[in-house]
Amino acid sequence: MLGLKLADLLGQPAASAYLRGVVRQGRFANAYLFHGPAGIGKMSAALAFARAILCERGAGASPNAPPSLFDAPAPKPNAAPADDACGECAACLKVAKLAHPDLKFLFPVSGEEKELEATIADTMTQLRENPFFVFRYEKAASIRLSITRELLRELAFKPYEATHRVVVVRDADRMREDQYSALLKSIEEPGAATVWILTTARPSRLPATIRSRCQKVRLAPLSEEQVRGVLEKELRVPAKQSRLLAALANGSLSRAIELNDSGDAVELRDKALALLEPALRGDPSGLWRTVQGYMNFGRTGRESLRRMIEFHELWLRDLLRARYGGADETLVTAIARPRSGARPRRSTPPRSAGG
Ligand SMILES: [Zn+2]
Repeated sequence: MLGLKLADLLGQPAASAYLRGVVRQGRFANAYLFHGPAGIGKMSAALAFARAILCERGAGASPNAPPSLFDAPAPKPNAAPADDACGECAACLKVAKLAHPDLKFLFPVSGEEKELEATIADTMTQLRENPFFVFRYEKAASIRLSITRELLRELAFKPYEATHRVVVVRDADRMREDQYSALLKSIEEPGAATVWILTTARPSRLPATIRSRCQKVRLAPLSEEQVRGVLEKELRVPAKQSRLLAALANGSLSRAIELNDSGDAVELRDKALALLEPALRGDPSGLWRTVQGYMNFGRTGRESLRRMIEFHELWLRDLLRARYGGADETLVTAIARPRSGARPRRSTPPRSAGG
C-alpha cells in the first residue's frame, strides 16, 4: 500500500510506535532491518518509514529550501513534532508514486542479465500500480551485483531533494558475499546521508556483521481477521472464501492473495479432506488406494503435498475448535465434517466436529 503512513500500518502497533518515535526525534540509524514472516507488510512498512523520513514537513525537510508560494501551508509552530509522513507535500506524493529521486530500491530479480533493466522497470510499474502486488521470484533470484554497484556509486553524491536518501533493500538475504561487504562499508560510513532499510523473512541468512549494525524492527504475522478484512474490503473476496484463505495464510496477506489468485483453494481443500474419508471409516486398504491415487505415481509435486497437509492441519484445528465450543462460522472445513459414526473404531480419536 503505497500511500501508507506509519500510523496506518496493518497489524503492527509495536513497529509503528517505535518507528514514529524515531521519526519524531529526527535521528536515524544508518540501517534498519525489518524482519518477520513473508507477506505481512514489511515492504509497506519500509515504504511508510521512507516516506516519513523524506517528508518535507518532517525530518526530510531541507533547512535551506526556500519557501514556495505553492506549498501547502506550513504546520503551526506550536504543533507537536511530526512523527509520520504528512501525506500531502510534494515529497510524500512523489514517494507514493515511487518517483522520489532520493528513494532507491534493490530487490531480487531472476532472468537474463541483458533483460535486467526491463525486468526491473516492469516490476516497479506493477508495484506502483497494484497496491497488493505480490513479489514472486524463482528460487535462484538474487539482488544483482551490477545494480548494487550502480547504486553504491550514486550514494557518493548528496541527496537531490531531501536531507536523507533512503534505500529499501527487499529480501536482503538474497545477496552475494561481495555485495554484503560493499553494503557493510556503506552502512558503516560515519555521517552518511543514506538510511538503509533492509527487509527479510530470513534474518539468519544475513551475515552477522550486517545484522549487528542494523537497528532491528520486528514485524508480526497478521491475525486471520486482519487478512480477511483486506481480502473482503479491498479485494472483494466473498466471506466464505476469505475465511478459508485467511486460515490457510498463516498470518501472511501475500500468501492469501496468492491462494486467491490461483483460484483452487476450495477444490484443493475438498480433495485433501476426501483423503481422510477412508481413514475415518477405519479402512486401511481404502486409505492406501486413495493416497496412491493422490500421489499419482510420484507425479504430485512437493508444493501440492505441502498444501494438502496444511488442509489436514486446518481440519484438526476445526475439530479442536468444535470440540471446545467454537462457533460454526470459525470453522473452515465445516462442509466436510465427518458424520458422527464415521469415526475410527479403535484408539481415542478427537470427537468429530459437532458430534
Ligand atoms: Zn509530507
